[in-house]
This record gives sequence, structure tokens and C-alpha cells, in this order.
Amino acid sequence: MNYTTQRKKMVETQLIQRNIKDARVIEAMQEVPREYFIPELSRSLAYEDRPAPIGEDQTISQPYMVALMTQALKLCGRDIVLEIGTGSGYQTAILSKIAAHVYSIERIPTLAAKAKETLNTLGYTHVTVMVGDGTKGDPEHAHYDAIIVTAGSPGIPPSLKEQLADGGRLVIPVGSRGYQELHRITRNGNDFVTENLGGCIFVPLIGVEGWGKDVPM
Ligand code: SAH
Repeated sequence: MNYTTQRKKMVETQLIQRNIKDARVIEAMQEVPREYFIPELSRSLAYEDRPAPIGEDQTISQPYMVALMTQALKLCGRDIVLEIGTGSGYQTAILSKIAAHVYSIERIPTLAAKAKETLNTLGYTHVTVMVGDGTKGDPEHAHYDAIIVTAGSPGIPPSLKEQLADGGRLVIPVGSRGYQELHRITRNGNDFVTENLGGCIFVPLIGVEGWGKDVPM
């Protein structure tokens, strides 16, 4: 089966049949070629129903998790989005299809460089990839309509809460190193409402407001 056919099948069986309903999310997942974001060695896993290795002990999230988190952000097309954990850049590409601009922070320089290259090659222009500790957010471009964290955190980094716009949504896996629950925090003025969207497993968020201090790679 070629990649386009595999992608169609993934959207139908892994997303639509599991209640992903946001038409813009479905369209983006239908359009972005996931195979380009996966190193050649594991490329055949591109449309499997699970995460896949991308090097540096990191993974590209399962397609369903990418769709679920994107849907949870409730993007309208005009949002400024902050993403923590660029990884392969796949989630960044999906977000950029639906947002006005995506700022994305990755702590491992080689992954950030590769993601930048892939996003450029495929023509995703309204995206800025940066290297750094994303637990502190990016005050320079704040406030954000939506913030997505694609690594597991022991708690909610205070900087990320502060950088949410009024009405903004933060989606983040919170829990232990081995298991987390997906939280959506919605800001209403100085009130923050938390919803639990269910269990998940992510690689750890490593940084000053995550799992300890950033260690040089
Ligand atoms: N969304 C990615 C999944 C990446 S896995 C994709 O679609 O491919 C999580 C990523 O978070 C890893 O690349 C890891 O290096 C990165 N990460 C972990 N802690 C971080 C931090 N404090 N700041 C930025 N990136 C971080």
C-alpha cells in the first residue's frame, strides 16, 4: 500500500472511528505526509497505530494522540500557538495547518535542526522552531491562544500558565515518568479550569519547570 492510501486508512480507522470530529484536524491529518518526519530506518511504521522512534531516544507520537491533542486545543484558524517538544516536527506541521503561527521549542539541537529542515522542505512557513528549555515557555511572543506540551510533566509549569492568553487553552500530559493524564487548562482571566482527557504515555519533559534541570546533551 502506498503512503497516501495508508494515510487515508489511518484517518478512517484510527481517528474517525475513535471519535476525532474536528473537520480541520481530520483534514490536516489527511494532508500532512507523516512519512517525511520519520527517519528512513523506521519509515515503514509511519502509519502504524503507535509512536515511532525518531532518534536521540525520542519518539513521534501515535497519530491518534496527535489528533486528540490538536482537537483539544480548539483552534479556530487565527490562533498563535506555542508547542513544547518539536521532536520530528510532525505535530508542528499539523498545528500550522490550522493556526496563524506556531512557535515550537525543542531541547535537543539535532532534532530541532532536522525538524526545521523537514518543515522547510515541505513548505510549512508560518512556523518558528527554537532550541531551548520549553518549560519556561517563550515570553517574547506571549500571550498564546493555545499551548501544547508533547512530553510528560510532573506538574503544570507556572510560566506556561502565565503565558496563556485570556480564553487560551493549555494541553499537557501530567503525571509520573511512566504514565500521565492529559490535562486541558483553560484560562478565564485569573481563573484556570482543568479537565482530564484521559491516560497517556510520553517521554519526560526535562527542564527547570519539568523533570529537573536541563542537562547539556
Ligand atoms: N511532537 C513530537 C513528539 C516529540 S517527543 C513529534 O510529533 O514528533 C517529545 C520531545 O520533547 C522530544 O523531542 C524531547 O527532546 C522534547 N523535550 C523534552 N523536554 C523538553 C523541554 N524542556 N523543552 C523542549 N523540548 C523538550
